[in-house]
Amino acid sequence: MNYDKKTVRDIDVAGKKILLRCDFNVPHDKKTGVIHDDTRIVSTLPTIRYLLDHGAAVILLSHMGRPHGEWKQEMSLFSARDHLEKLLGIPVPMTQDVLGPDTRAKCAALQPGEVVLVENLRFCVEEEKNDPAFAKALAELADLFVFDAFGAAHRAHASTVGVAAYLPSAAGLLVEKELAFLGMSLDQPLRPLVAILGGAKVADKIGVINSLLQKADTILIGGGMAYTFQVAQGGHIGSSLLDEDHIVFAREMIEKAKEKGVKLLFPVDTMAAGEFTAQAEGQVVPAHAIPPGLMGMDIGPETIALFTEAIRGAGTVFWNGPMGVFEFPNFAAGTNAVAQALSQLGEGAVTIVGGGDSASAVEKIGLAGRISHVSTGGGAALEFLEGLELPAIACLPDRNA
Ligand code: AMP
Repeated sequence: MNYDKKTVRDIDVAGKKILLRCDFNVPHDKKTGVIHDDTRIVSTLPTIRYLLDHGAAVILLSHMGRPHGEWKQEMSLFSARDHLEKLLGIPVPMTQDVLGPDTRAKCAALQPGEVVLVENLRFCVEEEKNDPAFAKALAELADLFVFDAFGAAHRAHASTVGVAAYLPSAAGLLVEKELAFLGMSLDQPLRPLVAILGGAKVADKIGVINSLLQKADTILIGGGMAYTFQVAQGGHIGSSLLDEDHIVFAREMIEKAKEKGVKLLFPVDTMAAGEFTAQAEGQVVPAHAIPPGLMGMDIGPETIALFTEAIRGAGTVFWNGPMGVFEFPNFAAGTNAVAQALSQLGEGAVTIVGGGDSASAVEKIGLAGRISHVSTGGGAALEFLEGLELPAIACLPDRNA
């Protein structure tokens, strides 16, 4: 896939109405509307500001949750709207319907320098079905389409793919950045390229492990998924997470890494506990010999030192998935240490954090600003790394087209 897509900078937006597909699907309290993590909204601000500063009128489109075509008040975009209004410092009116009379009237009246937010597109069942008539009706609201919802790029819906068939299209600045880091930086990395993978399930990361084995010099495996690799090597893991269906896969990956000369590092010690609770006290045990009744909850101190050393001196680092149950402070040390190690690499290194839990972890410890790129795409980022085509990116024109 070509990562060099036409962007808002390559098209004339002055005096035009733009359909801007954003990802405002932010975690929020369903009762109070309080937003827990506004990264996705903040990340789209550069594109919104660029368009407004260049004389465009901006119609914002997004989804929220999975209402499956039903109008559900707790999935309204109201809280995202209120937050965006504060961040932008201008009024952000919102439509009371999706593609109904209110949407048409508000979009028709929109002037350059103004924005309007259309209510959750998934309140209409046609959105997720990529219904052509729905996509065409969306397109009729505007002159141009800009896609900046990287977190939804793996979905072929009316507002991510369908609409691009009816309007001249371009990528937003967030999508441009995501493609530059997840695409170009990992395809032609500054070496050594160190990949760190964690999280709960091997199954979710199969494609990514496969793909990184083609690219990386060193791969560090931590988190719950590491125990399946321990079993694959004859280790005993007590009651730690085990993905029995993927023991054979883990063995194959270890072989493949040997063939390719990729250094594969596993935890040597583990912070284990007798119960899966926030109050549980951890004890350090060997990662390949966890006593019965204990479960691995985090990487241990020796592993932290081993992984930190492997990260030091990297040219490029890609990290996806926490090293332990970082939601419990007693078992967050491994994840925090990896975040610290990334943040301590010099200016010359490229550091990329894949979306999801590792992104929230760097955000939570206040280190996001010291990472070259924290991806906004969880599923989309992983599919992209696997080499799968993201439909909403594939349908955008190449810059040199
Ligand atoms: P994933 O979505 O696959 O990246 O997994 C993230 C989740 O993995 C987080 O909620 C972590 O609490 C969990 N996790 C990480 N390490 C472990 C572990 N050793 N045991 C159980 N869960 C873990």
